[in-house]
Amino acid sequence: MGLTRSSVGRLAEERSGKVPLTGHSIALAGNPNVGKSTLFNTLTGLRQHTGNWPGKTVATAQGKCRLGTETYWLTDLPGTYSLMSHSPEEQVARSYLCSGAAEAVVVVCDATCLERNLNLVLQILEITPRVLVCVNLMDEARRKGIRVDLPGLSERLGVPVVGAVARKKQSARLVLRELDRLLRGSPPPHPTVIPYPAAIEEALSAIDPIDSPLEPRFVKLKRLEGDPEMLEELGLPEVDPEVLTGLDAAGLSPQMVRDALAAGPVQLAERICRDVITYTSPGYAQRDRTLDRVLTGRISGGIVMLGLLAFLFWLTIVGANYLSDGLQWLFDQGESLLTGLLGNAPRWLFGLLIQGAYRTTAWVCAVMLPPMAIFFPLFTLLEDVGYLPRIAYNLDKPFCCCQACGKQALTMCMGFGCNAAGVVGCRIIDSPRERMLAILTNSFVPCNGRFPLLIAMLTMFFCGTGGAVWQAVLLTLVVALSVAMTLMATKLLSATILKGRPSAFALELPPYRMPQVGSVLVRSMLDRSLFVLGRAAAVAAPAGMVLWIMGNIPVADGTLLTLLGSFLEPMGRWLGLDGIILLAFLLGLPANEIVLPIALMAYLCQNSLTQMGELNQVRDVLLANGWRWQTAVCMLLFTLFHWPCSTTLLTIRKETGSWRWTALAFVLPTGFGILLCRIFTLLAG
Ligand code: GDP
Repeated sequence: MGLTRSSVGRLAEERSGKVPLTGHSIALAGNPNVGKSTLFNTLTGLRQHTGNWPGKTVATAQGKCRLGTETYWLTDLPGTYSLMSHSPEEQVARSYLCSGAAEAVVVVCDATCLERNLNLVLQILEITPRVLVCVNLMDEARRKGIRVDLPGLSERLGVPVVGAVARKKQSARLVLRELDRLLRGSPPPHPTVIPYPAAIEEALSAIDPIDSPLEPRFVKLKRLEGDPEMLEELGLPEVDPEVLTGLDAAGLSPQMVRDALAAGPVQLAERICRDVITYTSPGYAQRDRTLDRVLTGRISGGIVMLGLLAFLFWLTIVGANYLSDGLQWLFDQGESLLTGLLGNAPRWLFGLLIQGAYRTTAWVCAVMLPPMAIFFPLFTLLEDVGYLPRIAYNLDKPFCCCQACGKQALTMCMGFGCNAAGVVGCRIIDSPRERMLAILTNSFVPCNGRFPLLIAMLTMFFCGTGGAVWQAVLLTLVVALSVAMTLMATKLLSATILKGRPSAFALELPPYRMPQVGSVLVRSMLDRSLFVLGRAAAVAAPAGMVLWIMGNIPVADGTLLTLLGSFLEPMGRWLGLDGIILLAFLLGLPANEIVLPIALMAYLCQNSLTQMGELNQVRDVLLANGWRWQTAVCMLLFTLFHWPCSTTLLTIRKETGSWRWTALAFVLPTGFGILLCRIFTLLAG
């Protein structure tokens, strides 16, 4: 048997002493992307990640909320379209609902596509009558001219129904009040029953009831369906062969029975919706469809995708310049202040703290932070509008050509934010082979630690007076190269050590939604920018100190830093780089943000990083140390394709449970980087 009342949810937590023994256990169920996490967050005040693509929640989240003196323990189940198959999400949701761990279930539905959602509602009603249907996204439905007759729906379903806008607190309170009423009363006496063809109904009545905590009709249906895995999961015996013989005599093969059982809720949902939904402005659906034709068209889809990416980059580059200047000024003031304070400190302490820790951190924050602080809120807005699943749709074909699955496009998009997050996101891919492909190739796309380095390289060496538009176009081409290499690496793996056929998957294109600009901006600024700042302090500051020490240990004619650089020089030159750059990449393993500061510190050979907010000053230093445009191209290539940072490597180890796969994730992009740099160096002379 799968999960039981005692192995999951509040009871398990109560036993472990984590939660008090008071309050009600409530499950939140629903299709993906209907606002379940949003409702959960509004009710509990927690901040589960919400996103506009299906399948992101693969585990349950728990939180609590109160109404008056009552406490409700909410369990947010993974989003599923049905409870009939064996996908991990459906299994978790089904087992939880069948375990009886929840006293009531709130099924969240999308008012703009109610019919598909009702299929799940009806299946849940077969498991338990204690159901509250929350028809969410009522604001979107109103905007699209869709009217839902909520009292009519409640009457047809035989359970309470409440309309909601999950983002709003008063909606959440209304849901709680209805829930409270449901819990106080006896279970709804007449929840709707899905009718099946007469022969099946007859067979159901011929099955003898058995002793089970599950609803008797549900038990009979599952036994009739006869799926051995499901029977084992629910701890049910097989049905009497006589019953099946009777069905066979009525002309229904086991497959036909299964089809009829699956069709039952779909057909009833269709009938109910015909009665309770009216369309007052059909033009809206048409508008969405036209937009989809453009955004997911074979040629137009690609053009819009590249154009939009270039536009985001342009906004990022223009905005980052202003932000960078402001931050640099602030850090300069800070340094003057600290220098004054440490005026009488020993030289080594001043060097370690100011020239090592402070300057490296200031560099990371002033040059690296601004592009992230602008790009990622913009990217999150695209996610909120509903565009990311369209990107996955556009990229599905190329990924399938590489024997991978289109969901990899989504995990790749997450990788633009952070490769470690992208690797964790690969859990949305069911097939282990395809999941491994996505994990191993995730770091082929640049994460937020590498973007600023790419922008800096392009600005210094390839844009001349071309301005931000030219920079944005070049950056888009660089990103397109990273996607092309992701596909190539995927193809290579699936033709060698990860052979197999691509699995089919359903990708829902969610309706377009008005983004919540304010909350997206605040959330991504706080979540990501604070995270990056924290990381800058945690990694850049100690790294700065180590570098300062290395730059101050005299060895032969130079320092330990320059000595290591000279040691790596032949290898670096062979790759079109130099020893210092290679050393910077190696020492930058904890975080890509610190690669350029390390290189600069080593070049300047003056034991510390000078204050250098201006990129043209940096460029002068690089040129003085033998950089040519060819060096910058190799630097770009190696920035795109080298080993993942230590956080990502540890995450890969955790997700794959194997050091071997982790080693491959290290070697694969590095191999690509070495090959590309070498080919370019040979071609460019
Ligand atoms: P889940 O997959 O069911 O957990 O859905 P999410 O909570 O992640 O929501 C999906 C998207 O719908 C997010 O962009 C939410 O901001 C948005 N959303 C959720 N509820 C509402 C609502 O009531 N109105 C509107 N306009 N958008 C909503």
